Amino acid sequence: MIRYVIFLGKPGSGKGTQAQYFSRFGWIHLSTGELFRRHLQEKTVLGSKVEQFVKRGDLVPDDVTFSLVEDFLTKVEPDSRIIFDGFPRSENQAQLLEYWTEKTGALLVAAVEFFLPDDEAVRRLLNRYYCPSCGYVSNEPGLCPNDGSSLVKRTDDSEEVIRKRLADYESYAPQLRTFYRRKGKYLAVDATKKPSQISKFLESVMLRNDL
Ligand code: AMP
Repeated sequence: MIRYVIFLGKPGSGKGTQAQYFSRFGWIHLSTGELFRRHLQEKTVLGSKVEQFVKRGDLVPDDVTFSLVEDFLTKVEPDSRIIFDGFPRSENQAQLLEYWTEKTGALLVAAVEFFLPDDEAVRRLLNRYYCPSCGYVSNEPGLCPNDGSSLVKRTDDSEEVIRKRLADYESYAPQLRTFYRRKGKYLAVDATKKPSQISKFLESVMLRNDL
């Protein structure tokens, strides 16, 4: 049976860092943002469709996002454990995931929202570096420990675009909270804590349900 968790939270709240940690233990990290960036870099047809949205920090239209996610999900093994990072971002997207869950018999373990103040998110994002080859994220410039590529800044990590993405998050997050609360799957975590403390909390959630 496929098991999955959803990481909700504003940009900079540490979802990717935690997903990166759990991917070492076999969890598949499905970051829609990372998949879009890969398409941009490889200059695919889909990349050219989404370029302006991603650069401005606007949400990519649902039909394009759906085809990206559906394409990814058709390739996962029936016993996979998946972390959704950056998806869903609307009730419509949450419904698509529901539809897939029913169709495949997958189990939603929990939807965990990472909470932190906007100013802290801005501070983190302005100091964020990432690997354009594998998506590795760090708070220092340098070389990627996975493949030696130079870590770079994301083009949408400018203060103006960050503030916009943070405001957008506040506009769509309440619907998602309600959606997963109703399903009895919603949990919140204080994202100002140390990454190791957050991993411990997530481990208790993700492993308890993973027996
Ligand atoms: P992220 O890496 O999650 O910060 O996403 C980077 C950008 O990719 C976002 O600002 C959007 O332009 C796009 N994006 C990522 N996930 C989604 C999604 N679920 N729906 C629409 N657009 C998305």
